Amino acid sequence: MEIITSPQAMLRHASQHRENKTRIALVPTMGALHEGHCSLITIAKEHADHIILSLFVNPLQFGANEDFETYPQTHTTDIAQAKTHGVDVIFMPNTHDLYPENHQTTVTVNTIENVLCGKSRPNHFSGVATIVAKLFQLTRPHVAVFGEKDYQQLVLIKRMVLDLHFPIEIKSGAIIRHDDGLAQSSRNTYLSTQERTIAPCIYQGLSAAQHQHQQGETDPHRLCTTVQQHLDKHPSIAIEYIEIRDAETLETVTALTKPAVLAVAIVLGKTRLIDNIVLK
Ligand code: AMP
Repeated sequence: MEIITSPQAMLRHASQHRENKTRIALVPTMGALHEGHCSLITIAKEHADHIILSLFVNPLQFGANEDFETYPQTHTTDIAQAKTHGVDVIFMPNTHDLYPENHQTTVTVNTIENVLCGKSRPNHFSGVATIVAKLFQLTRPHVAVFGEKDYQQLVLIKRMVLDLHFPIEIKSGAIIRHDDGLAQSSRNTYLSTQERTIAPCIYQGLSAAQHQHQQGETDPHRLCTTVQQHLDKHPSIAIEYIEIRDAETLETVTALTKPAVLAVAIVLGKTRLIDNIVLK
């Protein structure tokens, strides 16, 4: 497994593989790898011969009061894990190489950016779109794999790929959870022992709403109320949103006639957690 840090070297490497007709897959991550990330590597291997995993904590997608400075960094174990899972190249650029002084260009994906998480994180998705566009340019993948855990991000990237004509297939991976239902996340390490016992109630609420939907409930408001009732049992949870939106466009829906995503964001203590379930 090779580790590349320079953007120019990454582009040269990718171009060489393109010339040799190798099929390249990119799995973008911010590191602190867990089973969720590894599942995306497995998907990447099903669709390509050469797997590039990027490890980069992207300052552009963090707000002023967010956790950029404290985001978990576990490079040694990340590198070992990537190797075990058959990654061919780790791309670990430096911030100043990707965002040199006087960097001006950003990518915005209107509408999708401003709903759900975009309301409390105003520049987050523009930061995501910008870094992913850069990674696409530098790694030249045929396929890129993203997790449904960040559902809004997945919809945004698919839109950007269409709008900017990136010749890249976007694949998605299901949410990998702990045994108690909590979605795996690098940020779960912020939770105290007590908070960690409370956090699975997010998935319990989502599952209850899914069950209700399977029993025939199609009113988004009533389904969201079910989730809220589960979360309201815990006073330490501050609900940011519980919403049902069209699974493809993230537009609001008044009745469930098409696949929709039931998405939740909460703050538990100091930790912001997101989760979702697709209602089909
Ligand atoms: P991150 O390192 O948090 O930016 O995540 C990198 C990629 O892993 C994104 O596409 C995420 O959606 C995906 N991911 C994160 N957590 C999970 C999970 N529990 N299951 C599946 N994919 C995940």
